[in-house]
Amino acid sequence: MSAVDPEIAEVLGLELGRQRDTLEMIASENFVPRAILQTQGSVLTNKYAEGYPGRRYYGGCEHVDVAEDLAIERAKSLFGAEHANVQPHAGAQANVALMTALMQPGETLMGLSLAHGGHLTHGMKLNFSGKTYNIAAYEVDPDTYRIDMDKVREKALAEKPAVIVAGWSAYPRQLDFEAFRSIADEVGAKLWVDMAHFAGLVAAGLHPNPVPHSDVVTSTAHKTLAGPRSGFILSKEEYRKKIDSAVFPGQQGGPLMHAIAGKAVAFKIAASQEFAARQRRTIEGAQILAERLTSADVTEHGVSVLTGGTDVHLILVDLRHAELDGRQAEDLLHEVGITVNRNSVPFDPRPPMTTSGLRIGTPALATRGFGAEEFAEVAEVIAQTLKPSPDVEALKARVDRLAADFPLYDGLETW
Ligand code: PLP
Repeated sequence: MSAVDPEIAEVLGLELGRQRDTLEMIASENFVPRAILQTQGSVLTNKYAEGYPGRRYYGGCEHVDVAEDLAIERAKSLFGAEHANVQPHAGAQANVALMTALMQPGETLMGLSLAHGGHLTHGMKLNFSGKTYNIAAYEVDPDTYRIDMDKVREKALAEKPAVIVAGWSAYPRQLDFEAFRSIADEVGAKLWVDMAHFAGLVAAGLHPNPVPHSDVVTSTAHKTLAGPRSGFILSKEEYRKKIDSAVFPGQQGGPLMHAIAGKAVAFKIAASQEFAARQRRTIEGAQILAERLTSADVTEHGVSVLTGGTDVHLILVDLRHAELDGRQAEDLLHEVGITVNRNSVPFDPRPPMTTSGLRIGTPALATRGFGAEEFAEVAEVIAQTLKPSPDVEALKARVDRLAADFPLYDGLETW
């Protein structure tokens, strides 16, 4: 690698070093196991395989067919789905395919507003979804910061959506899929759940499974699920044809067979006891963080946690009443060696490039091996960083110790 392209070799080495030496707390990120690094960097990347297993438009697909069939069967069994399409290149592609399969342009899509924790593919005005469909966004309650199902029902009755999407990128609580189902039935809408963030928790049985309640479920494979960067779709059998043709030839060409093989590996691992234990540590870590950041010595400086806690793998820190804004807090944590992303909070008075919030997640550190003790130490470092006049050098030394105690990709070539 370094002989062919020393500049890119240097990027790979530096990024491996960054991932090893810092604490990754971006809620949508994780570390794939080496088996998945291997499939991603394998000869499967060479293969064209337009079509589906047994029905390809290219020769020589006998081996990649096995990989895709395994990915499909494992996804169905992991989530109890009747049908799985594992070809979407990413979560956004899964969502576009889903919308084109279920909706006509101009029909109404009802999803959680981006500013309140939804994803841009759920109706943001510059996204395909917002440009193609009439958008009726629901919001969180201004007092509880939770989704109020009575308000969702009212909105659905008024807007008569063709599709309701339940799912989020920044929301710290479980959704009530049964209530969403009954509202969808009442107004004659289809129910789409986007479980991109919490799919790993569902696989581990630590979060309600949306599959039995939904018409269609989309997901990414790379967040809590810790698979390759990519998407997939689960559905009832009756949607098989529509969904498969919406993915290919509807909006994608050749599937990424190296990523599909990686998804097969991820689904296999996600069915294990070890994976379930890791998801338990993930949620426990987020709860430890929430508890520390709601203690009096932190809240007296205007820092708080939306909804007062979490049921999932992330917390949302509310800085609307703090001296630091989201960008300053993100930068300070970066100096200390902790990577997070600033995030708008609902009813945020600051612009999206500044924000009044932080989204902090625990999946990557749980994968690295962190348990309650280490998450308590991380929570302490974050709490001290967000208080006035932090001792950045001393805090960074604590982060360095944690990173050194939990080596990442030990022995992996740095090119
Ligand atoms: N859906 C949700 C809820 C997400 O949070 C994300 C990514 O952040 C996506 C879809 C899109 O996934 P991708 O970035 O793979 O396109």
